[in-house]
Amino acid sequence: MVGAGHNGLVAACYLAREGCEVTVLEQSEAAGGGSRTEETVPGFRFDTHSVAHNMINMTSIPAELRLAEAGLVYQEMDPFAVGSFADGRIVRFHRSIDRTVASIAEHDPQEARRYADLMHKALPLVDVAVAGMSAASTAAGAVRTAAGRIGRLTSAVRRFGGPAGLVHGLVAPYGGLLRTHLGSDLTRAPIGAFAAHSSAGPDLVGGTFYALWQAAYHRFGQWHARGGSQALTDALVTRLESYGGTVHTGQTVTSINATGGRVRGVKVHNGQFYEADRVVTAIDPKTALLDLCDPPLGGPAAAELEAAHRGNAVQMVVHIATTQLPPYRDARAGDWNGLQSHVDTMDELARGFHAAEARRLPDPVPTYAFTTSALDDTLAPRGQHTVYLACPCAPSTVDGGWMEHAEPFADRMIDSMERHAPGFRDTIVGMSIRTPQLMAAQLNWPGAHPMVLDISLDQLAFFRPTRRLASHRTPIEGLFISGGGTAPTGGISGIPGKAAAAAVLGRRL
Ligand SMILES: Cc1cc2nc3c(=O)[nH]c(=O)nc-3n(C[C@H](O)[C@H](O)[C@H](O)COP(=O)(O)OP(=O)(O)OC[C@H]3O[C@@H](n4cnc5c(N)ncnc54)[C@H](O)[C@@H]3O)c2cc1C
Repeated sequence: MVGAGHNGLVAACYLAREGCEVTVLEQSEAAGGGSRTEETVPGFRFDTHSVAHNMINMTSIPAELRLAEAGLVYQEMDPFAVGSFADGRIVRFHRSIDRTVASIAEHDPQEARRYADLMHKALPLVDVAVAGMSAASTAAGAVRTAAGRIGRLTSAVRRFGGPAGLVHGLVAPYGGLLRTHLGSDLTRAPIGAFAAHSSAGPDLVGGTFYALWQAAYHRFGQWHARGGSQALTDALVTRLESYGGTVHTGQTVTSINATGGRVRGVKVHNGQFYEADRVVTAIDPKTALLDLCDPPLGGPAAAELEAAHRGNAVQMVVHIATTQLPPYRDARAGDWNGLQSHVDTMDELARGFHAAEARRLPDPVPTYAFTTSALDDTLAPRGQHTVYLACPCAPSTVDGGWMEHAEPFADRMIDSMERHAPGFRDTIVGMSIRTPQLMAAQLNWPGAHPMVLDISLDQLAFFRPTRRLASHRTPIEGLFISGGGTAPTGGISGIPGKAAAAAVLGRRL
């Protein structure tokens, strides 16, 4: 197995459980990839990348791998999001749609009704999608699942006004959907901020689904791993070892021997060769098949993979240690449990994505925060807090370079926070800046793209990373691909890991 991110570890666990001898090679000094928690500010533990583990909690993976017994505890983040506006208004998105509607109605009863209608419209579609996620590596699997949820599918079609309405609903950008169905930025801006968290901007064609996905949080909730994202990694490593598998850190795979169209093993940075008749890569599929593979993948499969796209709008993160939770005006207990959006208008978000794609810094800077220490007392000294402040549309490559821009941009992100939580600056006691450049370098993660490759409709499910490679098998015998850049999608779901293990074993798991 190449790469000990959560997908590599999930694949390794399933394979070891089925009796395979599994060795996971990880280039960095610790396992976890985008699911790690570190003391980046002395005394304060922050998630280095992912914070909320939602998709994996919509699957059977934690139960099948008995991760709770391996020490993993998930805590619900409810409200899953709050929209904090510079004029002091706060709108709260609870797991309960009724509570959410009541919160919106405090400001605008008509908008509250529109929100309820939109969620009502989205729920059947989300139910079908969630059920289908685990089988979506093949078109046949997706169709089978949809057929098994025929009642929900029929409701989805009806609620979108017929088949054409549903297709349009899926191919449209979410900015258009939210402008059509909602009346103001009171709801559009925080929904947009949440959708943007997956690196999809409001104008992305085929991005509607990321705004409709809001309904999935009403259905399944949003989840924090106690102890931080690291807890998922630690539980997976514990489970893998219990099945007899091993993880070797500090082992950078520099080539995959595929002589004669069959995989024979991998070479690491110090020249050591690990012989293997089956290799699963759980890193960027482009890097694996086009750069590491020796000889590289050729033919049409390679040409299609070469063309798979990865945008320039990614996340910039600042870890901020504070003496108190962000002082939002009119805050109530619980407001710090989930994602805190500081986006005032959806247009500002759209402009931010356009600027990032053009390698420029967004202005104004859209930001959101997570303050998991509000839920979890293992992360900060008593009475103090961790503020994970992020911009969802920072340029991966920026004109002038990140060396020049990192500190001033982090400062502008804090200004954005300060406008929404006056007095925030005075509470800061420590800080660590994580630019896209730093994140990319630490994890060999091209462009630091959260989803590895864009999650446009043409690169999702049985089209991910390409139609030919979505089955997790490759034209090279014995070589399989996994990771967030493979089917069905990126993020913390574990599904590409489980699906790759099933492909290796040649059967459904
Ligand atoms: C800032 C940020 C915030 C995010 N927030 C969330 C969130 O809140 N919720 C969510 O669901 N998702 C979030 N994501 C996305 C999520 O973190 C990723 O989609 C997920 O980590 C992908 O998991 P993976 O196992 O496929 O790969 P990774 O986590 O990328 O792991 C790949 C591993 O392979 C290793 N590796 C790379 N090359 C080699 C090599 N040549 N040899 C050996 N090892 C190698 C890397 O070091 C790494 O450990 C976020 C991403 C970012 C960047």
